[in-house]
Amino acid sequence: MASHIVGYPRMGPKRELKFASESFWDGKSSAEDLQKVAADLRESIWKQMTDAGIKYIPSNTFSYYDQVLDTTAMLGAVPPRYGWNGGEIGFDVYFSMARGNASVPAMEMTKWFDTNYHFIVPELGPDVNFSYASHKAVAEYKEAKALGVDTIPVLIGPVSYLLLSKPAKGVEKTFSLLSLLGKILPIYKEVISELKEAGASWIQFDEPTLVMDLESHKLEAFTEAYSELESTVSGMNVLIETYFADIPAKQYKTLTSLKGVTALGFDLVRGTKTLDLIKGEFPKGKYLFAGVVDGRNIWANDLAASLSTLEALEGIVGKDKLVVSTSCSLLHTAVDLVNETKLDKEIKSWLAFAAQKVVEVNALAKALAGVKDEEFFSANVAAHTSRKSSPRVNNEAVQKAAAALKGSDHRRATNVSARLDAQQKKLNLPILPTTTIGSFPQTMELRKVRREYKAKKVSEVDYVEAIKKEISKVVKLQEEFDIDVLVHGEPERNDMVEYFGEQLSGFVFSANGWVQSYGSRCVKPPIIYGDVSRPKSMTVFWSALAQSMTSRPMKGMLTGPVTILNWSFVRNDQPRFETCYQIALAIKDEVEDLEKNGITVIQIDEAALREGLPLRKSEQAFYLDWAVHSFRITNCGVQDTTQIHTHMCYSNFNDIIHSIIDMDADVITIEKSRSDEKLLSVFREGVKYGAGIGPGVYDIHSPRIPSTEEIADRINKMLAVLETNILWVNPDCGLKTRKYSEVKPALKNMVDAAKLLRTQL
Ligand code: GLN
Ligand code: ZN
Repeated sequence: MASHIVGYPRMGPKRELKFASESFWDGKSSAEDLQKVAADLRESIWKQMTDAGIKYIPSNTFSYYDQVLDTTAMLGAVPPRYGWNGGEIGFDVYFSMARGNASVPAMEMTKWFDTNYHFIVPELGPDVNFSYASHKAVAEYKEAKALGVDTIPVLIGPVSYLLLSKPAKGVEKTFSLLSLLGKILPIYKEVISELKEAGASWIQFDEPTLVMDLESHKLEAFTEAYSELESTVSGMNVLIETYFADIPAKQYKTLTSLKGVTALGFDLVRGTKTLDLIKGEFPKGKYLFAGVVDGRNIWANDLAASLSTLEALEGIVGKDKLVVSTSCSLLHTAVDLVNETKLDKEIKSWLAFAAQKVVEVNALAKALAGVKDEEFFSANVAAHTSRKSSPRVNNEAVQKAAAALKGSDHRRATNVSARLDAQQKKLNLPILPTTTIGSFPQTMELRKVRREYKAKKVSEVDYVEAIKKEISKVVKLQEEFDIDVLVHGEPERNDMVEYFGEQLSGFVFSANGWVQSYGSRCVKPPIIYGDVSRPKSMTVFWSALAQSMTSRPMKGMLTGPVTILNWSFVRNDQPRFETCYQIALAIKDEVEDLEKNGITVIQIDEAALREGLPLRKSEQAFYLDWAVHSFRITNCGVQDTTQIHTHMCYSNFNDIIHSIIDMDADVITIEKSRSDEKLLSVFREGVKYGAGIGPGVYDIHSPRIPSTEEIADRINKMLAVLETNILWVNPDCGLKTRKYSEVKPALKNMVDAAKLLRTQL
């Protein structure tokens, strides 16, 4: 019985790759230094998998930045603006595409399916001259081999690569990406031939787009591609990996009939229906790579349950054709529990990071082969038993309150126009009211005082004093600029989810549980392990303090339940909506506490609402339904005169506009869009809505300072599509990552633009 790992995190257990890359980018170390750190990491991963007993160990899942960009390099598909002159692509061109350089900005980045990993989007047009320009896959295979490890090299499959690309500038509307298949396959053939020559007997193609809804011509491209590769791969075993969702029946049929393909990998954690397809029919003689260990989460596997799934599958595909695997690459989980020395022991026993998952996969394979590690299995049972019954997980009152929400609807009693009238009487705002999204620049000193307070090096009194001073500075600044609705600037927060997670019960934080988000950037999601409740108010102290410093409305600032959920590792012992409802109830209490304490405008950020959207259309309505319901729960109890804002960080609203409206917020602020007109007409179309809307008037992600004219021009464009009385004027996101030297002139210009237009309306 064999074992396999789809892919592994590259960052290292202590983010070694991050620090090495950043130091290289800063010119503080050499390319050789970076290559050495990378080679050491690869070696230790291969060794670790070898020691664990894994049979099919992947190579080429390492990346200096991103595996899709690696494929772009392999194919020589460098956009001309990066000035590549042929030859093997080196760090220079590679990192320019990834991060931009002094004269050219980086290529676009987008989310890898429904994960928080971002890849560099290939830009392809009819003029791309493909050539074999990065031998990384072969080099890594040989490198492992020299270390005595015969690996299974991993490539992004040709069809998924094309489907994840975007048409180059100028041909956006007309170009069919799949028309390039015939041009990239020759390069794939070269790579495969070299791998074969180097001794590879297996090859893995990741084709995760197979789990998506696909039109038939896209599906046909798979058949075409693998038929074309058949002769090149002959003599090798070819594994096609799919992951992140159930595979639709039609896709399954195509996949199982692909020529030259000898092994099929499925995500059986998210793919319970896939299991039925396999049970219905599986091609004789092919290998099944059964992804039973979750690559998207940090929970210890339920080994007994997995074992029985595997035993059932064994009956279908045969003992020698079943391979135990992970549900997807382990890239999307944390790296290693060993460094979690401060984590509570009991909770730790419930967890498995990537390194522990490798061990689980192998333990399952061995158990299937009749060599069950009894001790390991019984420790696993004990952990699951303690998790199920632990009083730290279970809070009956919370469970009851959340269960009572199901099936019912929660809405504010009056409609949005009536509410806005009531609010306006109280707030008395000018037309085109100005506001900001929440955070102000986080200076070094600020970070330092927070860090030292946490480490108990600064007393509570001194800490409160320091934060108070900061808030007062931010309030004064906003008054000086004449902003209408103020914020306190969020100086007490490190992160918009962590801040709440730390104060809610049911959350725990790891020390090194980092997950790559893009490039060298990692996030450390909180772990939601138990029923969520709010022991005491979380933001009232600071918000009330800030409100006491001004006569203008001060926005209370909260993170919404869906965003907290989507940016955390969520418990897997109850449905996600259940956990979301629990968080919603906790935030509801906070909203009502803020209201009681004199806060009349409350912003509940749902920056990540879209991130939880399931990949397949058929599942999206259900998600949106409970997600939006959760949001409404948080504020259904406030008075008409309390104004609820929400903020969302993305600009692609077309398909979810009705859900956004159904959130029933009084004011919605959103990220600046590439196409304002389109965005706003979407709002107008679906709308008849009447709520306030603040489409960011400038981009905070860039250090550029927009002029008054430019902002006024933007606002005018918005006014052409939206009613004057519903438009708000604000930046497109929080100002946390900017410097004061950028924020001050930008905000001043923003307010000036609003004032200018007020006189003209
Ligand atoms: N209120 C948060 C801030 O301003 C919102 C951040 C976000 O949308 N990502 O920082
Ligand atoms: Zn935002």
